[in-house]
Amino acid sequence: MRDLRDRDKKHLWHPLTQHKISPDMLPIVSAKGCILKDDRGNEYIDAISSWYTSVYGHCNELITERVAAQMKNLDQVVFSGFTHQPAIELSEALIEVLPAGQEKLFFNDNGSTATEIGIKMALQYHHNLGNDRKKMLAFEEGFHGDTFGAMSVSGLSVYNGAFEDHFIEVERIPVPTGKNNHEVIEQLKMLLSQNNIAGFIYEPLVQGAAAMKFHDAEGLNEILKICRKNEVILVADEVMTGFGKTGKYFASDYIEEKPDVVCMSKALTAGLLPMGLTSCSAKIYDAFYSDEIAKGLFHGHTYTANPLACAAALAGLNILRSSEIQDSIREISEKNTAFAERLSKNKKVKNARSIGVIMAFELDVETDRYGSLRNELFKYFMDNGVFLRPLGNTIYIVPPYVISKDEIERVYSVIESSLSEF
Ligand SMILES: *Cc1c(COP(=O)(O)O)cnc(C)c1O
Repeated sequence: MRDLRDRDKKHLWHPLTQHKISPDMLPIVSAKGCILKDDRGNEYIDAISSWYTSVYGHCNELITERVAAQMKNLDQVVFSGFTHQPAIELSEALIEVLPAGQEKLFFNDNGSTATEIGIKMALQYHHNLGNDRKKMLAFEEGFHGDTFGAMSVSGLSVYNGAFEDHFIEVERIPVPTGKNNHEVIEQLKMLLSQNNIAGFIYEPLVQGAAAMKFHDAEGLNEILKICRKNEVILVADEVMTGFGKTGKYFASDYIEEKPDVVCMSKALTAGLLPMGLTSCSAKIYDAFYSDEIAKGLFHGHTYTANPLACAAALAGLNILRSSEIQDSIREISEKNTAFAERLSKNKKVKNARSIGVIMAFELDVETDRYGSLRNELFKYFMDNGVFLRPLGNTIYIVPPYVISKDEIERVYSVIESSLSEF
């Protein structure tokens, strides 16, 4: 088994990794519930649900059984010209939990393409209506994925430098913090007066990749209202926040003004298979519905609406809607709130915050340590049996909804003990 570590290096190129300065990749050989097991038998509590996907636990029996049954009946078929029961059932079940006004679902493969399609819907909506609106609006530090459109609307980062010349046109505003709402709204109104913005893409309430940055719900609501008044299409990127993370089905459920478009992935398929979805209101769909072929949305991925991924999503949704899971989301939320309060009393902790199962805080340490600090923290947590991925000096958790009392207490206590180490 030892040699998995060496064999990995021969042909594999890992994501978000500068291999020259990165440690070896850790082989994970199995996963069950909240536990990941490595090739030497060490166990780790998956306190970030493997990038916010495996919220019902790894290798969940109900989900794997449903997918296995689907696999024996219909594995894959073209979704252009054909349809199938798993996609139809999923659409019916999802519409019931999506924010009000969502009517149509467009399938894709992952979170980046889900937002890419959301951007296309906004741009082509105005194109089809004959409006000259070619720009997108986005929050300064947003993250929407790694394809070109998604990269364009994401906050400019050092990682995207090689591609910036090829980006679509984007205007940016800061997130409303409650304190700056007035300035943000003024800036927004100035931008909108140009009459050239097609859509606004935003992560509602929590910006994941910006290190679990929270913003003001009232401020966001105000922005959305003004955008809607100016016929700017509202594209909610719920790839991270969707499916219960914030304590409601979608973060948009906290906000009065509802999106025109919702982008989904990650927990959509319960961490079992890759899939993305972009839903939209009848208003958007109707702008593409025409006798003219060119007015259609000509975007399609080969594995669109893969029946196995649909079966996983449908099983996941059934679990999410059960009172058992809703209760445990509530319990984790309460525990997180109490933990954030306890942490706030520590001098090394800044800005401890929580919403739903998401809890985060900043370690108040010397700025010049940020680079290596992240790696040291990661190693400390792993050595203590907890899988966390700190971002800079931000430590955050997004535990699976099925995490046990003992497991979450263990996560908290390892985080607390890290405070005296760093
Ligand atoms: C992860 C993420 C994406 C990109 O999803 P991928 O499946 O990794 O392409 C887009 N938006 C948000 C908010 C995300 O968290």
